[in-house]
Amino acid sequence: MRRQAVKVRLYPTDEQIQVLAQHFGCARWWWNYGLNQCIETYKATGKGLSQSGLNSLLPGLKKVKETEWLGECYSQVLQSVSLNLSRAYQNFFEGRAKYPRFKSKHHRQSIQYPQKVKQVDSCLKFPGKLGSVKAKIHRPLDGAIKTVTVSKCPTGKYYASVLMEYEGDYPEAKKDGKTIGIDLGIKDFAITYDGNKVSKYSNPRHLSKYEKKLAVKQRIAARKNKGSNRRRKANKIVARVYELFSNVRQDYLHKLSRKIVDNNQVVVVENLNVKGMVRNHKLSKAISDTGWGTFVNFLGYKLERSGGKLIEINRWFPSSKLCSNCHYQISELPLDVRTWTCPSCGTHHDRDGNAAMNIRAEGIRMLALSVVEGLFSTDTYYNGGNPRNVVSSSGTGEANANGEDVRPIRGRKSKMRQSSVKLEAHTVPSGQSG
Ligand SMILES: [Zn+2]
Repeated sequence: MRRQAVKVRLYPTDEQIQVLAQHFGCARWWWNYGLNQCIETYKATGKGLSQSGLNSLLPGLKKVKETEWLGECYSQVLQSVSLNLSRAYQNFFEGRAKYPRFKSKHHRQSIQYPQKVKQVDSCLKFPGKLGSVKAKIHRPLDGAIKTVTVSKCPTGKYYASVLMEYEGDYPEAKKDGKTIGIDLGIKDFAITYDGNKVSKYSNPRHLSKYEKKLAVKQRIAARKNKGSNRRRKANKIVARVYELFSNVRQDYLHKLSRKIVDNNQVVVVENLNVKGMVRNHKLSKAISDTGWGTFVNFLGYKLERSGGKLIEINRWFPSSKLCSNCHYQISELPLDVRTWTCPSCGTHHDRDGNAAMNIRAEGIRMLALSVVEGLFSTDTYYNGGNPRNVVSSSGTGEANANGEDVRPIRGRKSKMRQSSVKLEAHTVPSGQSG
């Protein structure tokens, strides 16, 4: 079974906006209430609440005067909240995620319809009071529609992320094809080596323009009094600029990953412990700006669909300090040193090109090793709905569809690594339901 999510823009009527606001409010209230119940239950018993445990609280709440308005919300929307909350709790207990957080009405709002959403012409037809909502469907919804997540951005736009299931599996991995090594950098976004030549891809030109604008708008917003109307308006402007910024970035990351996947069968990257690196303040800005994690996710799912492989090599592998010609390893290479000459064989290296060569060679070595040891399987497998085809030398965290950080369970024996994908692209594999 293959899964794919498509994100479409929704254009609700004024009445539908009211219905959505009510549903967002109910879902958010129920999440926060349920989380509180989990905390209390945990204090008393040492355990959280299961999905059914949470659901069993709902009928009582709908009968009580103060919370009878919960009955206005489509019941499966609330049950989805119970499911997501119990999962978030479980992920926390199993060491894969941070503690679940309370939801604020000032952030992105979302609700899930676990089933019964249909496409009717250029509308999505939802069960319950919402009904048919006009949608901009830019590609056919040709799979079996499963979970549909409706969200409202801080800029006031509405989207639906439609998760679909298809019969059949992803294509088998081909045995031929090229292998490319990618060094993700700061000066250039990516430097690749495909066995023949080194290519450099710089950050998109417009990005820095939006980045500067974003910083200005953020400073303006920070000067307004908290809770004031002016602050609220300023924050809305920040959200709009951020949306532009992130659209430019997503577009670039999609195009670059598409190009790389179309031309190569195996892609080797360094396993970026982005969280670990962000703690290093000098690098933090550049890293969060360049969106490496998103890029690697895009590569992963695009390769999966084309029968390719993503190989992540250990991030402690000295890709920059190793001579790609003779494997001599120099002891120091400060970040500002862009070129160096190997003291052993005399080869003159461009820092990044050399790293991409080493990354590619290490990926090929790992691939050969894993075939020998039988660790490398061509089967994709699912975790929270995310099939993966990734070989890795160590696991790191990524974010799942709910935006929570999820780490693979510690002590995993397999060399395969799965990671969830944040739902922010137009077309990404979804991390919902399993
Ligand atoms: Zn050398």
